[in-house]
Amino acid sequence: MPRFPGALESRLPNVGTTIFTVMSRLAAETGAINLSQGYPEFSAPPLLYDLVLKHMRAGSNQYAPMAGAIPLREAIARKVEALYGTRYDPEHEITVTAGGTQAIFTGIAALVRPGDEVILFEPAYDSYAPSVALNGGVAVRARLRFPDYRPDWAEVRRLVSPRTRLVVVNTPHNPSGTSWTESDLRSLAAIVEGTNVVVLADEVYEHMVFDGRRHESCARYPDLAARSLVVSSFGKTYHVTGWKVGYVLAPRELTAELRKAHQFVVFTVNTPVQLALAEYLADASLYLELAAFYQRKRDLFRAGLAATRLRLLPCHGTYFQLASYEGLSGERDAALAERLTREAGVASIPVSAFYEDPPHDPVLRFCFAKNDDTLSRACERLARVRW
Ligand code: GLN
Repeated sequence: MPRFPGALESRLPNVGTTIFTVMSRLAAETGAINLSQGYPEFSAPPLLYDLVLKHMRAGSNQYAPMAGAIPLREAIARKVEALYGTRYDPEHEITVTAGGTQAIFTGIAALVRPGDEVILFEPAYDSYAPSVALNGGVAVRARLRFPDYRPDWAEVRRLVSPRTRLVVVNTPHNPSGTSWTESDLRSLAAIVEGTNVVVLADEVYEHMVFDGRRHESCARYPDLAARSLVVSSFGKTYHVTGWKVGYVLAPRELTAELRKAHQFVVFTVNTPVQLALAEYLADASLYLELAAFYQRKRDLFRAGLAATRLRLLPCHGTYFQLASYEGLSGERDAALAERLTREAGVASIPVSAFYEDPPHDPVLRFCFAKNDDTLSRACERLARVRW
């Protein structure tokens, strides 16, 4: 293949391959247990696959409506109303997307004008800042500081300017495993009150909140719901991250803008999968039991890690556990994650990957969405590490 003959000025000069791909590849190459990239090791119940096949065979194989299959939007509306008490109109306020990442990208593309500021909380999921940059926006960073990763609302208030277009929030939070409280949402609501700021809420881990806490969705609070794009995803909830189906809840005015972009980003999403999910969603127990399922995994993993010298940070939600190696090694997290993959046979994610300018905190992220046996073997390997 001849090489590209022109000069290529990258729109994302500082972006390489995502850390999730890098670490999963290294895990595969070295045969390590892969607790890096976040995805479940287990399958959905066969019923879900049967439903997809049923709809394929029944001939639902052409484009779904641009905003999503109607039965799925209706099922989402019922679920959200039951959980958060807010009624979204399926026709004008719910849009089905190709996963959470596309929802977030499209929300940013639809709303951010060149030079607009977008407030992110760092550590931030790695797609947010590049999505802002690709759309000509300017990322402004609020810090969630190691080790408790709590938002500093006074700082957020200072960062809001007349140029602020969006605030991107993420609860439960990847990578820290923290979740926001009612008081956090009220602080956010008070800061944006009276402004034109839109909240883009990444809530894809909404059903993984532990120890009796409830998920505080922006959809739950009318003043926030009125200015929010709330993003969720079926991949996390039903162990089908590869299916890439998610959705956005937003008031009619914001949804209209979102769909202007959505129709040209993907137009629409896999039809039989949408119809299968619509039927599957009718059984609320299938998502309501997820918190207990993952809480048990979390506890098993934490009990296993207690035999290592790593210090565990609290985990209130998501399927990620942070572990501090403060005092055990002076290595940077990326170097340590690579060494543990090669030498101990356990892959993790260095939390520095979630920052523009990382603070060098001694902390790694482990994904516990794995079979019990995998988690136990990983803990045994980590317990053998000589620090
Ligand atoms: N959300 C997953 C994680 O945080 C990764 C998804 C991806 O690989 N892009 O690990």
